[in-house]
Amino acid sequence: MKTACCSSLSSALCVDVLPMYREKYLAHSSLWNNGAHTVTSSENGIVSQLYKALLQGTSSFLLQCMPMVPLSSKLIFQAMKLNMIHYTTFRLHVRRFIQPATVHIWKTAQEGMMQQLRQQQNIVLGGDMRADSPRHSAKFGSYSVMDLRTNTIIDLQLVQSNEVGGSNNMEKEGLRRSLDLLRAHGVTLDSIVTDRHPQIQKYLREANITQYYDVWHIEKGVSKKLLKIAQKKDSEKLQKWYRSIKNHMYWTAASSSSGPERVAKWTSILNHIQDMHTHDDPVFPQCLHPQRNTTDKSKWLRAGTTAFSRLEKILRNKRMEA
Ligand SMILES: [Zn+2]
Repeated sequence: MKTACCSSLSSALCVDVLPMYREKYLAHSSLWNNGAHTVTSSENGIVSQLYKALLQGTSSFLLQCMPMVPLSSKLIFQAMKLNMIHYTTFRLHVRRFIQPATVHIWKTAQEGMMQQLRQQQNIVLGGDMRADSPRHSAKFGSYSVMDLRTNTIIDLQLVQSNEVGGSNNMEKEGLRRSLDLLRAHGVTLDSIVTDRHPQIQKYLREANITQYYDVWHIEKGVSKKLLKIAQKKDSEKLQKWYRSIKNHMYWTAASSSSGPERVAKWTSILNHIQDMHTHDDPVFPQCLHPQRNTTDKSKWLRAGTTAFSRLEKILRNKRMEA
């Protein structure tokens, strides 16, 4: 039975399934054969099809199993005299085989990652939450933590808003659970990159963990404000600077090694957009780009204009320089 199971699954899965997952999936399937449940040959075929369907995200096979499948599709199957499994069978096989195999693979892989991290120093992580809808109306969220050296997800936590007293608390709870798990495995981290969620800031400060902000989140906030003011009368000129300011933010974050350097580089754009490329701040006294003559002189802004004042207010925001 064990041999039959492995060979039939292997032939069915080898084309589509990622090799690593196939190996582990088969290993786990064979474990069940020795346990309480005996996998029948028909189940083998169905499970392998289901596994492929789940990996592909969607498939005609999966859709045919769904109870909400259009009646026309069912009629076509009936007319062609094609058999299909019932939705309850689909759920049964997912629950019995696919989900335990997936969880087993994840737990095994995670344990291996934790063992490696336990032996490392200066670990830098990134954390963020994805929710089912915008923040205030979110019901479910998944908090992911990534090892930024290897770009590997090392933990996932599912959080439901009603178990933590509202959607606002979901992000902090997800992070807390992940950090608790890391501590339980003896992993000590040097710093973590997150968004600027106030509860996260407070929590990490109290836990004495160095926090860095994810520049993508900051850029997203600034870009939104820029787009808004660039649509206003007297500020249309800012549309020409939208992309440059975004790029300048990423460059500032990537090229600066201290707070003062970051502030000096970031605020230098306010001179640059006035066609001034030397700056008063000794930390960053002049732009690094080569001198060039611009054909479009109308793009330069002038201090005191409405557009410039609006832009300055956004770029010199206290939270930006924090
Ligand atoms: Zn410049």
